[in-house]
Amino acid sequence: RSRRRWWKVVTAVQELEAAAATPVGRLRQVVDAMAVEMHAGLASEGGSKLKMLLTFVDNLPDGENGIYYALHVGGTNFRILKIQLGGQRSILGRDVERKPIPQSLMTSTSEEFFDFIALALKEFIERMGNNLQLSQVRGKDLGFTFSFPVKQTSVSSGTLIKWTKGFAIEDMVEKDVVECLQKALSRRGLDMNVAALVNDSVGTLAVGHFLDKDTVAAVVIGTGTNACYLERADAVIKCQGLLSTSGGMVINMEWGNFWSSHLPRTSYDTDLDVESQNPNDQGFEKMISGMYLGDIVRRVIHRLSIESDIFGPLSYKLSTRFVLSTPLMAAMHEDDSPDLREVAKILEETLDIRDVPLKARKIMVKVCDVVTRRAARLVAAGIVGILKKIGRDGTGGISSGRIKGYKSGKMRRTVVAVEGGLYTSYTVFREYLNEAVAEILGEEIAPYVILKTMEDGSGIGAAMLAASNSARS
Ligand code: ADP
Repeated sequence: RSRRRWWKVVTAVQELEAAAATPVGRLRQVVDAMAVEMHAGLASEGGSKLKMLLTFVDNLPDGENGIYYALHVGGTNFRILKIQLGGQRSILGRDVERKPIPQSLMTSTSEEFFDFIALALKEFIERMGNNLQLSQVRGKDLGFTFSFPVKQTSVSSGTLIKWTKGFAIEDMVEKDVVECLQKALSRRGLDMNVAALVNDSVGTLAVGHFLDKDTVAAVVIGTGTNACYLERADAVIKCQGLLSTSGGMVINMEWGNFWSSHLPRTSYDTDLDVESQNPNDQGFEKMISGMYLGDIVRRVIHRLSIESDIFGPLSYKLSTRFVLSTPLMAAMHEDDSPDLREVAKILEETLDIRDVPLKARKIMVKVCDVVTRRAARLVAAGIVGILKKIGRDGTGGISSGRIKGYKSGKMRRTVVAVEGGLYTSYTVFREYLNEAVAEILGEEIAPYVILKTMEDGSGIGAAMLAASNSARS
């Protein structure tokens, strides 16, 4: 009997592998779908699941000087940064402070929320300046990274479309985010100017571009995921006559909501979506980002546990959503001890599953591998999709057949800035991603495309955008 059950496990894992498979041919279909959807999202409002939001950032930082501050609000922690730019692509100094946002404030009023932030900024400035007088920061420019869906009206204004990630400050919805912050700063006696309001991926692109001029796109893969890139203003068809001094504009793709029938979806993904707070929404994000990967693995193990006894008696923990976080999943995946001790420990401590034989622990690692490999390779396809849209994938782009990425027949060096815990802290994920980008592009083009890690990029980038959009510059 036990042999038959083992076969059930093997079969279920094989089915998972087949449904989640990402051979390069399928990845290329995803590349094409991404490029086509980008085009559709730029053609008309609501033309695609990709919102392709205008950011009004038309000049990326490039050799700014001076001291700038930034605030980053986007999750349970918020960050305050001070950076000193030394022109010529150098960051002379940086100070970063992380502060948890009290749960109660996440559902309070906009006044209370922004008062808290303004006070924290004031205390930070006083500390950083060694008791420097607040008057000395008079007029200083502030960058504001706000990672919620915002409809921007200029580079330094925009209204909140909706809250996500557990925030629910109702009086903020449809209000101008910068105005709220600016008022709170005045209430605290801080004479500072919010010069840039940016999405986190846009901040990452800004710092990437400051450090390396060939940076054309940025991707964030943390709790959630998003991407942005530099587009030609005349390609933004839905907004004719767009004012841009550079002829370009950064587009915030909101790519977490990308969808295509070519995505290798499994029954576990369908279940996760149906049971989520936002069914039919953020389909791409649910297959690739840190909030979800651990939970996909939990769902697979749950099914294996129902169908066999290789994980012992069915643990009730396996039916608890999000009990297995992505960092724990990564720790199991990267366990290199011969008897998979770490796997055993996490199974016991997190899932209440004890004394599992080695072959079951190996199954656990295998499932983590399948889920992470698919996620990393889909991100790679998304990145190449962006490159294809702007003619930097070596094929000449999708639109006119004009070969934009080439200079006298040669592909140009192309850099993509990447930020987020999944890429920076999960080594296997990063390796799968890098490898898949090279595989999709092929060996001739791959050497021209470089992925660069940006730590704290989004916040630093916001400060840089404050610098380049400073009213006094
Ligand atoms: P944010 O919450 O703003 O996206 P990060 O970019 O730091 O912040 O991403 C944090 C996310 O990255 C976590 O929610 C987690 O899913 C993932 N993560 C962090 N560390 C690891 C790790 N060692 N292995 C796998 N995933 C990780």
